[in-house]
Amino acid sequence: MTISSSISRLKGVGPILGKALNDIGINTIADLLNYYPRRWDSFQSISKIQNILPGLVSFEAKVENIAMRRSSRQKSLTITEAILADETGTVRAVWFNQPYLATSLLKGSTYRFRGNYEYKSGYISLASPTFEKPGPDTCPEDIISIYPESKQITSTIIRKLIKQCLDCTNQIDDILPEEITQNHKLISTQDAIKFLHQPKNNRELELAKRRISFEEIFELILTGLIIKKNIKTSSAVKIDYDSNIAKKFVGLLKFELTSAQKKAAHSILVDIDSERPMNRMLEGDVGSGKTLVALMAAAMANNSGYQSVIMVPTEILARQHFISAEKILNKLGIKIGLLISDLKKSDKEDVLANIKEGKVDCIIGTHALISKAVEYKNLGLVVVDEQHRFGVNQRSTLKGKAKYMPHVLTMTATPIPRSLALIVYGDLDVSIIDELPPGRKPIITKLVKEIDRVHVYIHIDSLISQGQQVYVVCPLISESDKLGVKSVETEFKILQKTVFKPRRIGLIHGKLKAEEKNKIMDEFKSGKIDMLVATSVIEVGVDVPNATIMIIEGAERFGLAALHQLRGRVGRGDKQSHCYLFSDSDNPNTIKRLGALEKTNDGFRLAQIDLEMRGPGEIYGTMQHGILDLRIADIYDRELISEVKEAAEAFISKHNLLEYAQLAEKVNGLKSITTLD
Ligand code: ADP
Ligand code: MG
Repeated sequence: MTISSSISRLKGVGPILGKALNDIGINTIADLLNYYPRRWDSFQSISKIQNILPGLVSFEAKVENIAMRRSSRQKSLTITEAILADETGTVRAVWFNQPYLATSLLKGSTYRFRGNYEYKSGYISLASPTFEKPGPDTCPEDIISIYPESKQITSTIIRKLIKQCLDCTNQIDDILPEEITQNHKLISTQDAIKFLHQPKNNRELELAKRRISFEEIFELILTGLIIKKNIKTSSAVKIDYDSNIAKKFVGLLKFELTSAQKKAAHSILVDIDSERPMNRMLEGDVGSGKTLVALMAAAMANNSGYQSVIMVPTEILARQHFISAEKILNKLGIKIGLLISDLKKSDKEDVLANIKEGKVDCIIGTHALISKAVEYKNLGLVVVDEQHRFGVNQRSTLKGKAKYMPHVLTMTATPIPRSLALIVYGDLDVSIIDELPPGRKPIITKLVKEIDRVHVYIHIDSLISQGQQVYVVCPLISESDKLGVKSVETEFKILQKTVFKPRRIGLIHGKLKAEEKNKIMDEFKSGKIDMLVATSVIEVGVDVPNATIMIIEGAERFGLAALHQLRGRVGRGDKQSHCYLFSDSDNPNTIKRLGALEKTNDGFRLAQIDLEMRGPGEIYGTMQHGILDLRIADIYDRELISEVKEAAEAFISKHNLLEYAQLAEKVNGLKSITTLD
């Protein structure tokens, strides 16, 4: 048997199990060895039953009695109970819905049992223990690996299969260069994989985790460093820093830039005044004023004779940016173009021709900017707003439309924690706007139960009388989509008929025609509408400073990041703003999530909480199309991360990656995720 043999060679793998394994990507012995445990349970080994304490325990005992019955409360539930005994005492064990146990566990025989000894519904007993006959084959260790399980593939099955082929790990090649394993005192990959699956003790497990984590992080960081090196060696157009332009730009504003904005703008203007392409991410909480920083860079690009493009995720946002950019940039003689899918045919043709001939200098738009028909005359600066909304391919297509490597600025309000940024975006420079424009009052956020709705409505109505405006956000467009969840169409009708009858109410959602959407947004902006009932189409970017109240219906249906973004639509002026989250959910996780919004307005803090609650795979995994695959490494392990970073830096400064074929192959595969190309 070799690592490339089929798993059908293993004892116990018939057609059914074979197919189930194939379905989760396990075809060969190598695949199986590469299927890592999800966690490890360690059992305190008990010599005698009289010493048993609550918790995970492992001991040998005889089955004194065993019987199966149906639950009296829930007929479909079967309960198997056994009394286990040794010469010092007895213990009760219970299993649910495993009726066959009553025949497979033999009365009078001795087994090794492993399970959780706990107190539950009136009894103290061993809950669903695993068991095996003691003998030369018994797994001696009291740490056992728990794998990602399915109905057909249990951890017990995987453990049995792995036991048969554990020796094949010796055929696995070590990807890490020898000098790294030596300098950092790492065990071999062969040992690490063996220990990961069947550790004899905690020390082996820790050594294995360290080795595998090191490798996972090393590959990602190395990839980032290599991309960075490539970018630094390709050449971009130089956009000269002209202090007159910067002064004029600032002079056109009605307010002063915050010092964080100035600092960010400075880094960007310095970056683009170079033949090395900029690759910078601008992180700043909702409302921190990122747009202006981007527009200033666009003004500078124009001054050096280059076009710039700003790509945003929604048409509403594109139009809004277009209007605010025109106000400022027109005064500097810069011509702005708007390109979105929903333009009249003739208008679109005009814009496309203008872009191609260089008659527009700064082009703002949606993903329409990357469609085939678009040809830029001399694109020098690419800005991607709300970058997490775009896929890797969309960003790279946009970049590819420039004749040279353009300078790239990505902007986001969903910050990536430092430790993760280092791993995932090792290639990226980061600027942070950590300050809001002066005079902003923190938004007061309240989680509201249905029974308090009336009080909230009365308060809101009095604020409307004072000229303030309201957003009402619902999770769905129409009711039929999902029962019991609020939809904008129904809510719009109800609000018009009842409490807010005298008020002017508008409705907006993604399925409306562009013309209608624009009309409604314009009316809301100019104060002709008091209350705007909306889906999350308004989630990003929309800027109406006079809107100070937000109601979010069915708040439990939104993620923390989305709620924070939505809430960021208010609190944009100097008036006190309110956000009311309606939810009747009593799921403790939901309450914790919504409660976090009540406690803080700080998007960075919320991102951290979100990460802790959901884990990086769920958040950044989906963001990066499910490839971010740290299976063993812990992104909070700062010590390890900085150790690996140093190792990776030292390594590429000394060696040519191409001499390490397998490592090079790994890095190549990872490039597609970590690069912002
Ligand atoms: P975001 O970072 O969320 O994209 P925006 O760029 O949309 O934020 O800015 C939010 C609002 O703040 C806009 O109305 C903008 O004109 C205003 N703004 C930006 N910078 C300042 C500043 N330094 N002082 C006052 N208001 C500002
Ligand atoms: Mg923005």
